[in-house]
This record gives sequence, C-alpha cells and structure tokens, in this order.
Amino acid sequence: MMLTDLTLAEARDALRAGDVTARNLAEAHLAAIEALNPRLNAYVTVTADQALRQAAAADAALAEGKAGPLAGIPLAIKDLFCTEGVRTTAGSRILEPFVPPYESTVSANLLRDGAVFLGKANMDEFAMGSSNMASAFGPVENPWKRRQDYAAVLVPGGSSGGSAAAVAARLALGATGTDTGGSIRQPASFCGIAGIKPTYGRCSRWGVVAFASSLDHPGPFGRTVQDCAILLRSMAGFDPMDSTSADVPVPDFEAACKRPVKGLRIGVPREYRMDGMPEEIELLWRQGLDWLRDQGAEIVDVSLPHTKYGLAAYYIVAPAEASSNLARYDGVRFGLREDGEDLRDLYERTRAAGFGAEVRRRILIGTYVLSAGYYDAYYLRAQKVRALILKDFTDAFGKVDALLTPTAPSAAFAQGENMDDPIKMYLNDVFTVPANMAGVPGMSVPAGLDANGLPLGLQVIGKPFDEETVFSVAAAIERAAGFSALPSVRAGH
Ligand code: GLN
Repeated sequence: MMLTDLTLAEARDALRAGDVTARNLAEAHLAAIEALNPRLNAYVTVTADQALRQAAAADAALAEGKAGPLAGIPLAIKDLFCTEGVRTTAGSRILEPFVPPYESTVSANLLRDGAVFLGKANMDEFAMGSSNMASAFGPVENPWKRRQDYAAVLVPGGSSGGSAAAVAARLALGATGTDTGGSIRQPASFCGIAGIKPTYGRCSRWGVVAFASSLDHPGPFGRTVQDCAILLRSMAGFDPMDSTSADVPVPDFEAACKRPVKGLRIGVPREYRMDGMPEEIELLWRQGLDWLRDQGAEIVDVSLPHTKYGLAAYYIVAPAEASSNLARYDGVRFGLREDGEDLRDLYERTRAAGFGAEVRRRILIGTYVLSAGYYDAYYLRAQKVRALILKDFTDAFGKVDALLTPTAPSAAFAQGENMDDPIKMYLNDVFTVPANMAGVPGMSVPAGLDANGLPLGLQVIGKPFDEETVFSVAAAIERAAGFSALPSVRAGH
C-alpha cells in the first residue's frame, strides 16, 4: 500500500506504532505533489522545506513521547488562512505579493498539535465561486473523470477546490477549507470526500482573509468522516481574537463517529425536493434515509418554509459584507500597488488591476444594496429573511435531531459549463446556503456515484454546537454506503 493512500487516522496510528515516520509521509506526499500538481493545480504554493522541517520536529516529538494529536500529519491549507512567512494570496492578484507576519488561529492550532503543512491550496478568488474557475492562479482540475467522456476536464467545485482536489488525489491526508455558502460541502461532494462546516463560532476566523464575516466558517476536509472529526477537534476552540468565537468546550468528535444512530429522529425537509433535480440525486437521498432507518433512526418529514428565499438573501448579505471587507485592499497597506497620479488614482488602478471579474461583480452588488435608499429595500429585508431561515431551523430542531438532504443539485460539471450565466453558478449552493445563513453545522459525506461514475454527497445538518450528532449520522451513512470508488487521477496512478 502507498503511504499516500492511508487515511489520516491510519497514518496517525502508524506514526505512533513506529511503522512509518513523519519524514516518510511528508516525502511521499511531496513526491505526489511534484508528479501531479502541474496538472491538477491544487496547490498555488508548495512549502517543501518547511514540511520537511516540521516532519523532523514531529519525528523528534514522537520519539520523545511528546507528540501532539496530529504529529507528522501532512495537510493542505486553503490559501485564505494567513500563514506566517508563507505567501497568502486568497486566490487574488491583489494579494499575490502578500506574506503575512502572523499565523491564523486555526492553522496555529493545527501546528500546535504537530501537523505538517505541505503548502497552500488553490481557491476561487476571495472564496467567491463554486467551481474554482475564478482563481487568479488558474483553474483546478477535479481528479475524477466521467466514464462516458473521459476527455472532459471537470471542476472540483469551489471555492475550496484546491483543498478538495488535493485530498481526493492523495496529495494531502486532509485539508482546511472555508465555507461561506457551501465552499467546503460542495467541493467535498464533487471530489468524493468528506467535509464539515461546523457551527458559526466553533472555529476562529482570526487570520482568515474575510469574505462575508457573518457567514464565513473555517472547517476541515478528510477522506473519511473520522478524519474530519480528528481535524476539527484540533482546529476548533475559543479565541479571544475573534469576537464571534464561541467559548464552549470542544468535545471528542472522533468518539462521536462511533455513536449509534438508533433512536435519532432524522428530518427530511420537503422544500429541498426541488423541481428539475436529477432523479439519481433524489434516489440517493431516499437511499440515505433508508440506510439510517435500517440502523434504527426514525425518519420525519419537516418543513423549512423559507428555503426558497435562501439563495436570494445570501446573494445580498454576502456581497454586502464582501464589499465592506474588500475596501481595505487599496494598494496602500499591503499587497499589490499600482502607482497613480494621485491617491485616488492609485486606489483605482490597484483595484482595477488586482480584482477579477467575479469579485468586481460582488463589490458592485454589495455597494448597491448598502447604498442610501436601497439599504432598506435590499439589505435590511435580506437580514429579516435570514432571521426567518434561522427560525425554520429552530422549529425543525424542536422535532428532529438532524436533517438529511443532498449536498448539491448536480455532480461535478466540466470547465466552461455554467460559465455563461452567474445565476446558474449561484444555484450550486441552493442546498448549502441555508446552513450558513443560520450558522448551524452541515457536513457532506460521499454516498454514491452518478451514471457517469462521478461522486455524489449527502448533507447532514445539525443543531448549533451539536457536531457530535452530525458526525454520528454522517458516519452511519458512510458505513452503509461503503463508498470505495477512487478518482482516476491520484498519486501513483
Ligand atoms: N459559491 C458561493 C459563493 O460564491 C459560496 C462560496 C463560499 O462558500 N465561500 O458565494
């Protein structure tokens, strides 16, 4: 067996047993990156020297019996997390020269626990997108292939497309991502891996380049539910540097993966049965419910009546916050600078040269909905809708312990598809956005393949700060699905 094929949990146990060294693991992954990254473009920066240094430190800690829970585990870090001394681009030209002088809390937590960072993962610019086609550093290739159309190059989803492709192709044992409207769950679904967006406040946003502050959620990717649980435990925790960080204990998520689902009540939101949803996704959803019923869960119909307004409200709130957050990129303090005749000219030239089309579109929409005269009609109204969406979830969770839905309305599409119309692209998030609006945890778990052999995920949504139930339900689906298909492009193949 190749070292890159181990799960994170298996690698951890092998390190502890002395069957493998952190150096072996780092070298195997760096070799895989060297072989495949020129094609997949999953990493925008590879930090080989740093990885080998961190691996040596992990091996020393393991030898002394002082190793942290992630000692020697090689990871990919989405290029939205500031990493001290390592360029952090957010997928944008405007931050291309930016080398942060500090480490984000989440990545610092991973380093504290002994993780090894292989490099920074590609992403849609400022995390805006669902395909990774909007990166200033070029698209990412999904390692999966259509059976009927092998030549087509598929997207990995977005915005955390590099993270998801790296984990699927065995270029990392796990990865960090961020999810503002679906950017962990949708790429996890497209790449046949697991990913969780925890409760808002569970993982600190400090040092994560901001897109929409009230919607941004850091979280992990892994090839198994258990691997995500291990990573989330290290990433999570109260942080006084983030005023929205929650001061709540971090439970043993890994133990929760083994909890039975017997007796749990699982809700099926009827509004998620969308017109035009492919039949195979509908069937997989029903299959997932059967799997949970077979393991002793009770399936209950529930209603989330404001679901249909979720996407529209999101595409007001997210651009509004983005337009405000992105005002700081003015060419004065950090990142790109295009000299101008005067200060205003410098701002304009810098922003015109630094931002891509999708980011400009969001800034325009955001500025518009926040302007005097439109604020009440759009922004304030969207915030009211947001409150109703939260209330839908609160009401549903009075009756059930978790919800099961599809993750995305389609499997991975090809580069170029869905590009003609931004609204079509926005529809990717129809099932994921409500959990961001409400701040509740959501996880995608690979559950089956479509007719073309492409992975499809199911989404488990839970109560605030009850990721444990989410993990137990996702693990139950994982067990029943026995998902063992492999992407065509992966280390050693
Ligand atoms: N696709 C959504 C958007 O473009 C969500 C992105 C995200 O979650 N970061 O806004």
